[in-house]
This record gives sequence, C-alpha cells and structure tokens, in this order.
Amino acid sequence: ATGDAILRVSGLTAGYGAAPVLQDIELTVRTGTIAAVLGANGAGKTTLLRTLSGLVRPSAGDIVFDGRPLRDVPVEQLVRRGMAHVPEGRGVVAELTVDENLRLGGLWRRDRADAARALAEVYELFEPLAQRRRHAGHQLSGGERQMLALGRALVARPKLLLLDEPSLGLAPRVIAQIMGLLRQLRDQTGLTVLLVEQNVRSALSVADEAVVMSLGRIVTATTAGRLRDDEQLRHAYLGF
Ligand code: ATP
Repeated sequence: ATGDAILRVSGLTAGYGAAPVLQDIELTVRTGTIAAVLGANGAGKTTLLRTLSGLVRPSAGDIVFDGRPLRDVPVEQLVRRGMAHVPEGRGVVAELTVDENLRLGGLWRRDRADAARALAEVYELFEPLAQRRRHAGHQLSGGERQMLALGRALVARPKLLLLDEPSLGLAPRVIAQIMGLLRQLRDQTGLTVLLVEQNVRSALSVADEAVVMSLGRIVTATTAGRLRDDEQLRHAYLGF
C-alpha cells in the first residue's frame, strides 16, 4: 500500500574490486514516492542503482525489496519481482523501431493481455512515441529516446523504477517534460521511483524524499522540500 516501504537497504557495502565504492548505505523508499539520489560525479549513485538491480554484488548488508530479501536473486528474476532499471545512456536499441523497443519490455510477461494494455497505456502517456511507432531508435531525439527507455520499463509494470540520470544531455524544456511525466505517473498510478540525478533542481522539483551521497556514503537524508528550502543544508551538501 502507499506509504509502506517497498525498499529497505541497510549496511550495504559494495564495489568493483577490493576497495568498496558504497559504504554502509541505509535507505528506505516508500511506495508511491519519488526519492532522489543526489551527489557529485563519482559519489557512487550509479553504483547504488547497479547494486540494487543485481549488477554489482554487495559484500555486506541487506536489501529487502517488496517484503523479501534480495540476496542471490538472479537479475532476470528481479524484473519479474517488479524492479526495473533504466541505466544512464538509456539502452534503447537503435536498429529496432519504437514499437519493437517497447514490446521488448513486456516480452517475458505471461499475462499477454495485460502486457498489451500496458503498451497501450505507454502510448497514451507518451504522445511523441505514439506518433513515431515505426521510427527506428536512432531516428529519435534525445528526449524521445529517454521517453522510450522509460516507456519500455513501464511496460513491465514495475513496482520500483530505478532511473539513472534521465536529464542527461537534454534541453531544459525536455527535462521539465520528463520530470512532469514522472510526477504524473506517481500521482496517477502510484509509481515508486528511485531517481539518480546530477540535475539537483530538476530532481528536487519532483522528488518527495532526497538523499545526498558523497564518497560512497549517504551524508544526508531528508525530504526534498527541506533540501529545496533550507539554504544552509543546500550549501553544506550541494554547494549552492
Ligand atoms: P556519475 O554521475 O559520474 O555516474 P556516480 O555518483 O554515479 O557518478 P559511480 O559511477 O557510481 O558514481 O562511481 C563511483 C566510483 O566507482 C567512482 O570512483 C568510479 O571511478 C568507480 N567505478 C564506477 N564504475 C566502476 C567500474 N566498472 N569498475 C571500477 N570502478 C568503478
């Protein structure tokens, strides 16, 4: 239900070799909220998403997703359990059409009727994609590619969407549009999002909660509103 924790992370330590990148991460994300993960380049934001989605193995700590521990769950099972990861750079298949890319998101689903409904809903929500169904991925603008990556994740009807820098390389107007879509999805469908962003202002404009990372640790966790309004806090952790 809305307000319950869909994700609980405790004592999470993870990295790529001997030296950990993430250290002792504590994080709770409630159902139906947008949580922003902020912080400078190299703070470990991407590594956090990759660890949550099973691409990086933690060396310590616990991840509880939708009431069950995530330890040793194969990556493909995670998608079935409701976690969708839209990586930085988006992973749209350039040679496939918009429609084919979107259908990829629902290929594994047994409930074909609902997969078709989810696809129709994505077209309803993302008007530019509906107009370009037969266009190849490489023919799309940056903003359309980001919508396509988002749409493909939504076809799987995720319980939690992990979104890595959706604003990257987009014009301000397009960023505002993407953030507006996230807001709409949260408000209308109860979607839960963990949003990694370098674009602090855009992220705080839609987020409910915010955490700031530095050097692999969470240095502050508060509401997005407080981070928006509290100049001292912003100075201390975000440098503006
Ligand atoms: P960015 O916004 O630039 O992606 P970030 O906050 O997401 O920054 P990460 O990409 O998670 O940070 O990187 C955190 C640290 O982990 C950095 O020091 C980086 O050099 C290191 N790192 C990232 N990916 C790898 C990898 N595949 N192998 C080894 N080290 C890595």
